[in-house]
Amino acid sequence: MLLLNPGPVTLSERVRQSLLQTDLCHRESEFFDLQDEARARLLKIYALDPAAWSAVLMTGSGTAALESMIAGLVPEQGKLLIVQNGVYGERIAQIATQYRIAHTLVKHDWMDAPDLDRIAAALKADKAITHVAVIHHETTTGRLNDIAAVDRLCQEHGVRLLVDAVSSFGAEAIDFGGSIDAVSATANKCLHGVPGAAFVIARRSALAQAASRTYYLDIGRLAKLQDQRNTPFTPSVHAYYALVEALREHEEEGGWQARHQRYAALAEQARAGLAALGIEPLWPASQSSVVLRAYKLPQGVTYEQLHDGLKTRGFVIYAGQGGLSAQLFRISTMGALTPADIDRLVDGFKALTQR
Ligand SMILES: *Cc1c(COP(=O)(O)O)cnc(C)c1O
Repeated sequence: MLLLNPGPVTLSERVRQSLLQTDLCHRESEFFDLQDEARARLLKIYALDPAAWSAVLMTGSGTAALESMIAGLVPEQGKLLIVQNGVYGERIAQIATQYRIAHTLVKHDWMDAPDLDRIAAALKADKAITHVAVIHHETTTGRLNDIAAVDRLCQEHGVRLLVDAVSSFGAEAIDFGGSIDAVSATANKCLHGVPGAAFVIARRSALAQAASRTYYLDIGRLAKLQDQRNTPFTPSVHAYYALVEALREHEEEGGWQARHQRYAALAEQARAGLAALGIEPLWPASQSSVVLRAYKLPQGVTYEQLHDGLKTRGFVIYAGQGGLSAQLFRISTMGALTPADIDRLVDGFKALTQR
């Protein structure tokens, strides 16, 4: 089965085999070698200096990393401005509410790009704001938010930026040189590992001031112990095996830029193939990530018919979220996919829609 949902992804044979390595106790030096390699390789993807940045690993899905980042890196007296234009922006607001973190929202329709004028006005109007949170790739719609523009606003207003890069880390450009204090991400999206290992890339200066609102996901404590070749709890050891193998593969294949190119080519191939069948993307490639594209459901066929028909042909596509489920479907090009797979996918669509 080939997975075209936005994570978990279709594994390469190499990553799948890495799960079968020797049983490992997480209190032995072999495990800490694995942890060290994962942390070092995560920083290396965006050429980050380990003296200034820390890759903090945790066991859980991408939301664990997101929750750890928000709960820890908005200081006790801080206030968060959350940019919302999809399900994942709303999730950050739910996390902030749950931890009683002072916050304010700049809400958008799910179809809209972040409105920089409104964000600037909100920053200007409320001097209590210390941090901004934004989604990089809003997986709800496939929109790639312009985090560089949001970063410039943060720099102008002297506030720090926290980024949910769960579905972009490893395949889209991220400039860590501005006001970004942290990005959260996971092993099982653009990095092609298995679910169970997630991480936050955080500035050490931000970690030094971290709040301790959560026990299991306490980012300051996790970072400190991992720097000491230690871990507070039992990590998902096998997911770490797969993460390290996936990171080796990622580097050997040419890093985030090569992965970006590969996704872009597969996404364009799918777009062109579906366009020939009259199936249109939600918006042009310039507004979309290379990771996932949303398409308008064609006339005369329901999402369920498409989904089930494609599943019998070996593909899992993904529904639109919430209110978008009746209008959209989504296709991710993450994972071990080839151009031949996309050809077969388009053939499947053709058989299901051109009857
Ligand atoms: C996948 C995803 C998450 C995390 O979802 P999990 O189910 O916890 O892995 C968070 N943010 C974005 C933008 C995502 O695409």
